[in-house]
Amino acid sequence: MKEACGVFGVHAPGRTASHLTFDGLYALQHRGQESAGMAVSDGRTVTVVKNMGLVTRVFDERTLSGLTGHLAMGHTRYSTHGSSDWLAAQPVYRPAGRAGFALGHNGNLTNTAALAERAGMLPGMTVTDSDVVAELLSQACARVSHVETGDPGGEGLGAALRAVLPLVEGAYSLVLMDESRLYGVRDPHGFRPLCLGRLGTAAAPEGWVLASESPALDVVGATFVRELEPGELVTIDEHGPRSEQLWGPDGPDPRLCIFELVYFARPDSRLYGREVHGARRRMGELLAEQAPVEADLVMGVPESGVPAAEGFARRSGIPYGQGLVKNRYIGRTFINPDSDARRNAVRRKLNPLRENIAGKRLVVVDDSIVRGTTTRAIVGMLRDAGATEVHMRVSSPPIRWPCFYGIDTPTRNELLAATMTLEEIKVFLGVDSIAYIGLDQLKEAIGAGHAGWCDACLTGRYPTAVPVELVAAGAVADAPDRALQGALPGV
Ligand code: SF4
Repeated sequence: MKEACGVFGVHAPGRTASHLTFDGLYALQHRGQESAGMAVSDGRTVTVVKNMGLVTRVFDERTLSGLTGHLAMGHTRYSTHGSSDWLAAQPVYRPAGRAGFALGHNGNLTNTAALAERAGMLPGMTVTDSDVVAELLSQACARVSHVETGDPGGEGLGAALRAVLPLVEGAYSLVLMDESRLYGVRDPHGFRPLCLGRLGTAAAPEGWVLASESPALDVVGATFVRELEPGELVTIDEHGPRSEQLWGPDGPDPRLCIFELVYFARPDSRLYGREVHGARRRMGELLAEQAPVEADLVMGVPESGVPAAEGFARRSGIPYGQGLVKNRYIGRTFINPDSDARRNAVRRKLNPLRENIAGKRLVVVDDSIVRGTTTRAIVGMLRDAGATEVHMRVSSPPIRWPCFYGIDTPTRNELLAATMTLEEIKVFLGVDSIAYIGLDQLKEAIGAGHAGWCDACLTGRYPTAVPVELVAAGAVADAPDRALQGALPGV
């Protein structure tokens, strides 16, 4: 499971928006490491800089000092649709109105082919779903800007968003800007997060910030105001933010991706009003109640398995300890096309602490198992280091369906839990026992009982129509649904 993308935007008169955007993107680096970019405006001209690589590789002091202006937005990308090259890097820019507009997208659309046809884009011309939306917006800007306002650089982009977004299906948290305004919008399901922050005080605001996750607000000194509602469009200019609901009061159907809480979001992020780290610890506590085991040491798979491991240890009374050390300088440097390469990648990334492990019965807590190759390599590593027993506990239910909403998952036939029973998974991974948290317990751990979630990769219940072209390509091919044969909590 790989993150999708991070988006950030700031409107702060009197401040250097490019430096704030750099800091914001740096805080969102975990959401995408393939490319980074930003657009900056001084009120007249929109300038875009983007390139392949990490935020610190794309931007240095020299680049940033050339990007002057009080308005900016940025993007960090992990590709889930479209090629991983410069053309797919964001922001996407389109000349429209007085100075053009820039768009950054987190998510994945499910009707891209139909939208591309509507936009008159030739097959092969489309690079990403974000390009298709930008093209439709650009065409709409040309139609609406002068009609609505008589000002080609005025509310054209806002009007274009109102015209185009009802046609768009799937997951999108967008941050956009023209030369004078910043826009943020979430799809009517709110699959991906987006929050609003304020620079300065409530009585004397000095600017406004949009970000995928709240730590990006903290790092620029902004105060968290609120999460945008699903279906909400926020327009920010010198008068501050204005909000409107594009789908009407009954339209939105909130379905935040449950894996944002399990794995994707930073532990210090706030989602649905809760800090993610606490939710992950409670997942471990409930997992310990649901699937207890006798053992000597509880350890988490670094880093996202660690909070749940702490919770498991606290509730079970088994001591918590570190069993694996992660090379913290490892980046997304390696291409992992096959199982052998993936196993080698695990060795480069993780190394066992032999003195902590040797002769011990271990509870190993991880947040998810996708193909199982990484987990199998970790288990082998722990056994080689002298573990006498390995009991796997997973703080998400079995992943049995692919994601179409911006997370990179393999096809159904490659998902371990879609193709094996629980007993077969236990044998394949080489563990003494395995248990996944139940979906009800996961939702209880998150504690936002009233909230709507997307859990389609766990249940197969997709909130939107599944893209026909992906069905045709076998992404959801009927793998033998054998995971159902293994009774939870585990074996
Ligand atoms: S299918 Fe899974 S990963 Fe994708 S949005 Fe839904 S819960 Fe998240």
